[in-house]
Amino acid sequence: MGTLDNRLYEWFGYSSFKHNQREIIESVLSGEDVFLMTATGSGKSLCYQLPALLKQGTAIIVSPLLALMENQVQELKQLGIKNVASYNSFLSLKEKKSVLNRLPEYKLIYISPESLQQKDVLDKLSRLNVSLLAVDEAHCISQWGHEFRTDYLKIGEARNKMGSPPCLALTATAAPEVRKDILDKLNMKDPVIKCDTVDRTNISIRTIKKETEEEKRIELIDCVRKLPKPGMVYVGSRKKAEELAEAIKNEMPFAASAYHGGMTKEDRHLIQQQFLLDEVQIICCTNAFGMGINKPNIRFVIHFDYPKDIESYVQEMGRAGRDGQRSTSILLYTEIDHVFPRKMIEWEFPTEEEVQYICEVLRTDDSHDVTRKRVESYGFEDVHARFISHYWEEWRNKEDARSQEEFINMVIKRRKGWKFNKLIQMEEWISNNNKCRRETLLETFGETLQSPAKQCCDVCGITEPLEDVDEAGDAGFPMMSWQDRLYALLQQQTHKG
Ligand SMILES: [Zn+2]
Repeated sequence: MGTLDNRLYEWFGYSSFKHNQREIIESVLSGEDVFLMTATGSGKSLCYQLPALLKQGTAIIVSPLLALMENQVQELKQLGIKNVASYNSFLSLKEKKSVLNRLPEYKLIYISPESLQQKDVLDKLSRLNVSLLAVDEAHCISQWGHEFRTDYLKIGEARNKMGSPPCLALTATAAPEVRKDILDKLNMKDPVIKCDTVDRTNISIRTIKKETEEEKRIELIDCVRKLPKPGMVYVGSRKKAEELAEAIKNEMPFAASAYHGGMTKEDRHLIQQQFLLDEVQIICCTNAFGMGINKPNIRFVIHFDYPKDIESYVQEMGRAGRDGQRSTSILLYTEIDHVFPRKMIEWEFPTEEEVQYICEVLRTDDSHDVTRKRVESYGFEDVHARFISHYWEEWRNKEDARSQEEFINMVIKRRKGWKFNKLIQMEEWISNNNKCRRETLLETFGETLQSPAKQCCDVCGITEPLEDVDEAGDAGFPMMSWQDRLYALLQQQTHKG
């Protein structure tokens, strides 16, 4: 056995590598930049954890998910790997200080993109021997970075300040143009690119067209009733998540819950746990639910509202059937569904008038200190304030000849264009009833269909009914008469006694 195998066994307790882990790890160890696209649950984290332990210096792992960071740190500590830490907003001031003062002692540090941008943090990291920069959920750079979490766009800059250590970008789904965006934003040079297929052959794909929202609701209830559970229903708004969870609870004996970003952290955590333990069988959620959740036995994902791009669709429907068992993805839509996602895209950005107003105010004021907080103080919501302060800074760094509002409006136009194109691509996929849906999905990711799935899609024809007779029959008593039921209950009592 080679050294890698020995270490794998000694540190992680595995006797062999999965899939292409060894290749990736060897590339990372030799100092190459690596882009890895592979399904959740396929052992991505080992691809940076093992090299981090083998290399001299400290590996920095950038992750958007605070809970996931904490989990990984705990897991490593349980394996006996103690010199790991996380640095994020969960920590107290004292804890943060302690981590920063002990940086060279750690082999791995997990950090959020926001914390990475703090000046004191970056100063310390720039003096550290950084062995590797790993960016987890790297599609966030492209999906959220430009608008919601602009600190994602600055990871490349931070990388330069750290002396350009080798970079490993990891994601489960990224179409070619998103891949390009990631490589570009992280300043990756001639990277090794490894992409697994995004095809999930155990998930059948259906789209169902309805005339009205009400018909869509009836169809949803019918599908939820018939399909094996647990399952998820994705909706476009918080309000609808609540309404549909109520409707399901009222009409069926299944525990259903809503989940969205407007709920308290505690409530969300509770519902997530209940869902993971099968105590809640149906979850009606916005896209706030999902990333980092690895529940293997989800039997269906229904889209009551369609997502704004195909990547989100693939990510969301891909939460079904991680155990490899037969699963279903259903997308419900009506002719008028195109209105809402367009509005959503518009809301993501400040209007031209707002940009005009804030630029004028900031120019007359001290224009060298345009922080998010300051923009917020003029009545802008968090996301817009973040956006404006980020691009104001970019305008200044680029010494752009245009005015600030021209520059910011140009960015808005470009980003809206990108988003509308993605939305149209999604809608074309939904309305195209002539070509295998799986095939067109794969084409979006630059792949070709290798072998058709047994139960492929509504265009190819799905022969199996929605109901799974074996699984639907295990509900317990409903087929018994009251006499039988009473008898069974008495039997139970006797056995207990
Ligand atoms: Zn098909």
